[in-house]
Amino acid sequence: MIEVENLTVAYNGLKQQNTALQNVSLTVPQGTVCAVIGPSGCGKSTLLKVVAGLIKDYKGEVRINGGAVSPKKLRIGFMPQNYGLLPWQTVADNIRLASRIKDGWTEAKAAKMAALCQKLGLEDLLARYPQELSGGQQQRVSLARVFLLEPDILLMDEPFSALDAITREEMQDVFRDLWEAAGITTILVTHYVEEALYLGQQIVLMSANPGTVAEVMENKWQGSRSWKSSQEFFVKGQELRSKIKAMGAGA
Ligand code: ADP
Repeated sequence: MIEVENLTVAYNGLKQQNTALQNVSLTVPQGTVCAVIGPSGCGKSTLLKVVAGLIKDYKGEVRINGGAVSPKKLRIGFMPQNYGLLPWQTVADNIRLASRIKDGWTEAKAAKMAALCQKLGLEDLLARYPQELSGGQQQRVSLARVFLLEPDILLMDEPFSALDAITREEMQDVFRDLWEAAGITTILVTHYVEEALYLGQQIVLMSANPGTVAEVMENKWQGSRSWKSSQEFFVKGQELRSKIKAMGAGA
């Protein structure tokens, strides 16, 4: 479970302090996906960085599974927009690295990696380097790496935004299947309303200047393919898009 209470973060600018987040509170129950959406500059990345333990200078409370944010004690899976793969390492080494550092390499890990690679269609790509892969393939490697790590929490910063529309939808399904099997508590930052509606059990709508939580929506249809193709899904998408546009930026 991730709990954020009255989180306020200010960056020190050259002339003045810039309040990126102001009194942001949210709770992500164990084993659920919270999709965070809002206009550019509303503090989505800042929120992820605080929960990941990368920003330590803040006011308020952040707890993961009831304790402090401690990247040493916890496994925090982070998926950045650009996939975060090391260009000088092969696909296989990229997938293994974080897991090997945390746990050492075991037969069980090797078996799990083989199963993940089979599921993600990566078996024939293991000896390649990241630059020899398409965006969708790099994304699959990034997913294999993070699910092999079996993190306590997963933080995703617009993970599918660099992909074309068809590949993005495909990867949303791949993520959904992996997540459903693993049930990892996840914060997914996205600027695609359909992605939030498809993947988030909870949708947190943020507004900017300063970044605050404007609305929290429960989404009981999360992950359902029939919901994704329903008229209601389309209508909800339009509603959400209008709300974000009314805040001054497109989504
Ligand atoms: P989002 O991810 O929603 O686009 P960010 O968290 O990146 O928003 O940024 C929130 C606010 O904080 C913005 O106004 C941005 O300009 C500001 N900001 C982000 N990073 C820095 C930084 N390193 N120094 C100063 N201001 C920053």
